[in-house]
Amino acid sequence: MKTNEAKTRAAEILKRLRKKYPDAKCELDFTTPLQLAVAAILAAQCTDKRVNMVTPALFKKYTNAAAFATASQETLEQQIKSTGFFRNKAKSIRALAAALIEKHGGEIPTDLDTLVRLPGIGRKTANLIIADAFRRPGLIIDTHQIRVNQRLGLTKNSDATKIETDLQKIVPEENWISWSHCVTIHGRYTCLARKPSCAACPLTDLCPSVQLEN
Ligand code: SF4
Repeated sequence: MKTNEAKTRAAEILKRLRKKYPDAKCELDFTTPLQLAVAAILAAQCTDKRVNMVTPALFKKYTNAAAFATASQETLEQQIKSTGFFRNKAKSIRALAAALIEKHGGEIPTDLDTLVRLPGIGRKTANLIIADAFRRPGLIIDTHQIRVNQRLGLTKNSDATKIETDLQKIVPEENWISWSHCVTIHGRYTCLARKPSCAACPLTDLCPSVQLEN
């Protein structure tokens, strides 16, 4: 597909998804960049809903990076246990907090290149922080983005960074946050992994993977 054609299709896709999901946003609860980083670490292999049940007490107890950095591993593990993989997650949170104290005055850095060098922060989480904590352009490529963009024929890649590059060419920067949330919500609730609900999808005429039953 030519780039201009892909740009036009992407714009129409976003227009329709915004209409279907007018409230699309990050589903993790947070108020500070640090809270979003911690919630994102907890969200690995866990639902946002479950994370949101754990974080109110966590954020009340640990109010800054120093508090997380000095938390005991065992205590933190107990507090986040229900999110799964709690040993590694507790280690990641403490390592992140220690790095923030050591190198960044206890604050979450505001640029992508610095964020991705922090322990526990991959490119997806870095873009999430850029987009949702700092409200600057970021394409958050999660598992839903990979699947939905492939089905829509907007990328042939399965590597998240390559998909991010593909999308950067066809989605204008000012729409990256909206694209991130609308497409992810679409993947989460309509374009499901096992069986997409194409009958409920507003993109059937734009999608080469549409499966409509007669
Ligand atoms: S038409 Fe079906 S496969 Fe295509 S985006 Fe919609 S739900 Fe997904």
